[in-house]
Amino acid sequence: MSLKQRTFISLDDIQAVEYECPACDTRQLTALAKFKEVPANCPACRKEIISTSNRDSSKASDWVAVDGFLKALKEIQGRRLTALRLEISAE
Ligand SMILES: [Zn+2]
Repeated sequence: MSLKQRTFISLDDIQAVEYECPACDTRQLTALAKFKEVPANCPACRKEIISTSNRDSSKASDWVAVDGFLKALKEIQGRRLTALRLEISAE
């Protein structure tokens, strides 16, 4: 018999979001409690951090998807939905 350990987090476990510039590797950490909007450009080199376009024009940009996800996460955290957990990779 083999055992597999599974690891879950609650949405309240997520405390902050970190952005890393693909051009200069500058990192920017924002507490989710203070999150307002995904930054469009790197504060150091001004290059785009998350694409504001999409190769598939019928889909939203990466920026819209990420910004919407983080805003929804923050909203859900405020609702204290304790019945919901996410499984994460243990590797
Ligand atoms: Zn940069």
